[in-house]
Amino acid sequence: MNKPPAQAITSRHAHQAAWRVLYARAVTDAAELLRRLDLPLSLLPGARAGSDLFPLRVPEPLLARMRRGDPDDPILRQVLPVDAESAVSTGFSADPVGDLQAMPVPGVLHKYHGRALVIVTGACAVNCRYCFRRQFPYGDAHGGGGRWGEALDYLRRHTSINEVILSGGDPLVLPDGKLAAMVDALAAIPHVRRLRIHSRLPVVLPQRVDAALLRWIQATPLQTVMVLHANHPNELDTAVAEACQRLAGVGVTLLNQSVLLRGVNDDEDSLFSLSERLFAMGVLPYYLHVLDRVQGGAHFLVDEERARQLLERLSRNLPGYLVPRLVREDAGAPYKTLLSPSTG
Ligand SMILES: *Cc1c(COP(=O)(O)O)cnc(C)c1O
Ligand code: SF4
Repeated sequence: MNKPPAQAITSRHAHQAAWRVLYARAVTDAAELLRRLDLPLSLLPGARAGSDLFPLRVPEPLLARMRRGDPDDPILRQVLPVDAESAVSTGFSADPVGDLQAMPVPGVLHKYHGRALVIVTGACAVNCRYCFRRQFPYGDAHGGGGRWGEALDYLRRHTSINEVILSGGDPLVLPDGKLAAMVDALAAIPHVRRLRIHSRLPVVLPQRVDAALLRWIQATPLQTVMVLHANHPNELDTAVAEACQRLAGVGVTLLNQSVLLRGVNDDEDSLFSLSERLFAMGVLPYYLHVLDRVQGGAHFLVDEERARQLLERLSRNLPGYLVPRLVREDAGAPYKTLLSPSTG
């Protein structure tokens, strides 16, 4: 891939944070979403009921990738609130992955050896209906609002931690000044060598990858990995490809994680094209998660046997490095549980 010259990036974005405007202008009203996509108003009551439980939020650049007039569009399904979210499902809970038990200080999740995850904000650019954090009490849990001191103290005291994961919510909704300060503080901890950023913004709002973001990433001595989150190939347009190219240009290793979702990507063709298209953008598929059993998300569940069959089809048809690891998160486990292909 050709890198865009750094100069071009700077002059194109120097005078505004265009992404901030787009972030603020996200569609949050169900009637507006339906109208913009030429969808029937019969979907409105369900959308209103669902958004009472977890607000609707879609940024414009993502909306632009949805097909008009198609209630089954794979991107729309990820963001449109529906009646089924009100159903109470047995085996589904508010904290399915045991995060509240793994939080030694506010804002730090330390579940796995060598890595700690810092929740720097509860906010996101898009609200994904299946999200396992849809019920999470962010108000009390994230380490923002001047409480990073305690999180940083924890990271300093635990010398086994060599990788810090910025997560949320979505860490890249924070202003660059705040992120740069956080990353400087992390780089000053001798045992921290790697920075990982878990973000959906380069996909749903690729304008976020602007000169100001690239500047602090390029400046940090920490090796930087970004784990994107795309579930369907339709999410990956030219603007996303260009954002990935800019990130790669400053040395970021790019990975992607997806969630296996009924009616979105639970078919061989979608997953196959997703891997192919990611790689064409310089991104390696990392994880394919089976759904975390969060209350309100049950209608997205793909059973594990079906998940393992899809993995078998992918393994048969793709080079090994384009087959994501199919994983499940079990509360209390020391790593994510790897599922194997099924020929059944
Ligand atoms: C998934 C996860 C990680 C990262 O795990 P990797 O297997 O290294 O990708 C770290 N901390 C928490 C709490 C996680 O849920
Ligand atoms: S944390 Fe990720 S999956 Fe959840 S709503 Fe935010 S962007 Fe979507």
